Amino acid sequence: MINDALSKFETIDIKVNKAVEILQKETENLSSHVATEGASSPSYAAITAANSQTTGASEDRALNILIYPIDPNNAINIGNLRKAIQETSKINNITFRCNNLFNISKGVKVVVPTIKDQQSVQTLFEGTNLKESYRLFIPKPPSIKLMIKFTSTGDSEEFAQELTSKNPSFPSSAFKVLFNMKAKTDHHWIIELQDPYLTLINTKYVFIGLKKCNCEIFLSVNHCKRCGEYGHSKSRCQAKEPRCLICGTLSPEPLHICSKRCFNCYDNNTKTGRSDPVFHNSGFYQCAEFQRQRQSVRAKSGIDKLLR
Ligand SMILES: [Zn+2]
Ligand SMILES: [Zn+2]
Ligand SMILES: [Zn+2]
Repeated sequence: MINDALSKFETIDIKVNKAVEILQKETENLSSHVATEGASSPSYAAITAANSQTTGASEDRALNILIYPIDPNNAINIGNLRKAIQETSKINNITFRCNNLFNISKGVKVVVPTIKDQQSVQTLFEGTNLKESYRLFIPKPPSIKLMIKFTSTGDSEEFAQELTSKNPSFPSSAFKVLFNMKAKTDHHWIIELQDPYLTLINTKYVFIGLKKCNCEIFLSVNHCKRCGEYGHSKSRCQAKEPRCLICGTLSPEPLHICSKRCFNCYDNNTKTGRSDPVFHNSGFYQCAEFQRQRQSVRAKSGIDKLLR
């Protein structure tokens, strides 16, 4: 099978290269998502796996695997690599299909059609003597998070227990509980969906206790608590002056006159002639600018592929 695929590679045409280019872009988009600190991400493979389940397609996708030399001074020669793959896969009886192989800086990108092929490549490179010369890197996408709103428990074990026992589509292996946010007397819980349950992102509501709780896609938006701007966090802030997040005053005195006015919305309105509401804190969930930021995080996240 691999010989077949590799010989096809010799006559590969522009169409395939174009497809690879699109996929590369997609992978980059997925990787650039704003991830929550400390949360681990499912693989790109996992996302396309879940996606292929929803669409019924399994063969029309491709996955990237990057292979680098262990010795960084020795860039990989694609012909040698191909030979090494052929020999090692024959000896170890590991087969996989391969759409394309091409050089990237110092390494080689391998494009395979399915997760199964990707796993075989992983076995081949990590379970045989190939691991002495090459190391494997599989690009990771963002984690897929769901917010379960207004639950009456603040205890993570109790919450997980309720979620699995009252909702058959949520076995304990389907999610990891991340954290909660307090909303008056209730708690919004954020869970990270696990492969192969990523399509649970489509869930509209679940039962927790006796309550029907609405669900919402959770997207982490970077909002700086020092200067109030979006797109970076406080630890990366390069603004000259801090700002009051309530009234927008620059370098505020501790006892300044302060009432809610969002400087993001106010400045946007002035610049664009929009008339978004401005009487809220900077970083408020319903702030028009916050929602725009949220949409852009969503566009980059790849989540919309799972919703189709
Ligand atoms: Zn800042
Ligand atoms: Zn203020
Ligand atoms: Zn605002």
